[in-house]
Amino acid sequence: MFEKNSYPGGKLSELRLGAYRFDKGPSLFTLPELVDELTGLSKFDNNSFTYRRLEDITNYFFEDGTRFKAFSNPDKFAQELEEKLGEDKTFVLKHLKKSGFYYNTVKGLFLEQSLSRFKNLFRFATLRGILRAPYLHLLSSMHEINAKRFKNQKTVQMFDRYATYNGSDPYRAPALLNLIPHLEFNLGAYLPERGMHQITEHLFALAKNLGVEFYFNHAVEKVILQDYRACGLLSNGRTYASDIVLSDMDMSAFYKKLLPREFTPKKLLEQEKSSSAFVFYWGIKKEFSELGLHNILFSNDYKEEFRCLFQEQSPYYDPTIYINITSKYCKEDAPSGCENWFVMINVPHNKSREQIAYTTGLRKSVVEKINRVLKTNIEAFIDNEAILDPHGIELQTSSVGGSLYGNASNSRFSAFLRHANYSKKIKGLYFAGGSVHPGGGIPLCLLSAKIVTQLIEEKEK
Ligand SMILES: Cc1cc2nc3c(=O)[nH]c(=O)nc-3n(C[C@H](O)[C@H](O)[C@H](O)COP(=O)(O)OP(=O)(O)OC[C@H]3O[C@@H](n4cnc5c(N)ncnc54)[C@H](O)[C@@H]3O)c2cc1C
Repeated sequence: MFEKNSYPGGKLSELRLGAYRFDKGPSLFTLPELVDELTGLSKFDNNSFTYRRLEDITNYFFEDGTRFKAFSNPDKFAQELEEKLGEDKTFVLKHLKKSGFYYNTVKGLFLEQSLSRFKNLFRFATLRGILRAPYLHLLSSMHEINAKRFKNQKTVQMFDRYATYNGSDPYRAPALLNLIPHLEFNLGAYLPERGMHQITEHLFALAKNLGVEFYFNHAVEKVILQDYRACGLLSNGRTYASDIVLSDMDMSAFYKKLLPREFTPKKLLEQEKSSSAFVFYWGIKKEFSELGLHNILFSNDYKEEFRCLFQEQSPYYDPTIYINITSKYCKEDAPSGCENWFVMINVPHNKSREQIAYTTGLRKSVVEKINRVLKTNIEAFIDNEAILDPHGIELQTSSVGGSLYGNASNSRFSAFLRHANYSKKIKGLYFAGGSVHPGGGIPLCLLSAKIVTQLIEEKEK
């Protein structure tokens, strides 16, 4: 395994600032059984990766003082929306049920198989998906369906937010993405016992245990080709021969840096990118009892926020703020009486790919909004600070423009336009990770690895 950084995990890494520990990127963990499945494949002790199912998932805050909680129990959650937002409880439960229907249709069709294999067109899951098409709202956006289903704009905003789980715009993303809440409410949201970085530590240990050799500080500079077959790579001035090459690097960077230009699939790579993020890691010298593990401080004008992010390609200065605090559960992540705040704002992917110029202005808006909504003076409690911007994300992981999830899912064809898990032009070259099929986020990256394993078994017989 060749890795340009000195540590494993890519976006799923950690940061230590004085006495504080932070998960650097992902903070929400769903479908933990995909990690368990990998544990099961090795002879590793099954108890070494432990995680808890969350009872309270997210705390929501609005500028007008409205607050509510998303509970993992669908019934309790529906009750909360009825009491706090005046929604009809049965409509909320129906929405979550429909979310499950979408997920179970899409799972076999898109998430667990390669879309580029002709024979997959004739599988049961594909045919079932086609038969269910009239019930999948294929011509509507997420927002259109949510706005029709709920009377309170705050409920609509809350369900629209799930588009950001793969860096998309709810006003354009297909309604099918309303499958995402099913993962949290029906299947469950989780947190590893020692925070998200435990996933990386665990998979790294599993791989080493199986005999995988890791070459850190080894950026791959070129894939070696012979007669249109990948047969090795060049790193740190040395060539390494191999039977196949498998990459989880961002596709755009991969084609640009590692292969001759003639192989670049221009149309695939020119598609709209998913959003990026601006993250403030703050050690906070105070405990906030009104906050939990996941917290959202919503913007006042969600539509305008997404117009800015995706049409104007500029940050929005009344941003929706996400605050993740793992020290609520992982007590070692912050000193006693303190908290580790991961404060994240969605921003456009960095098209110019140069140093970010808007840090100071954005930080000011974030601080002011937190002060208004939580009625505090947050600056007074910031003990330690680090910042990660889209440029930093690109430097650390090679994701073009710092986009978090590869291409956005803003069109109903997006699922079909992701790069396949293998190269159609170069034999022995395979792809996994967030910028290829079936998409970004930890569960989908793990599914891409599963799909690619099946493909390699089939194709390299
Ligand atoms: C701030 C943030 C928040 C997120 N929140 C969530 C969340 O809550 N839940 C969720 O599921 N997902 C979340 N994500 C997305 C998730 O992190 C990604 O989808 C996933 O980790 C991508 O994994 P990957 O293997 O495709 O890419 P990466 O993790 O980027 O791994 C690619 C690896 O390739 C290495 N590399 C690149 N170029 C080379 C080269 N030339 N030679 C050798 N090595 C190279 C990189 O250093 C990196 O280690 C978030 C991401 C970020 C940044």
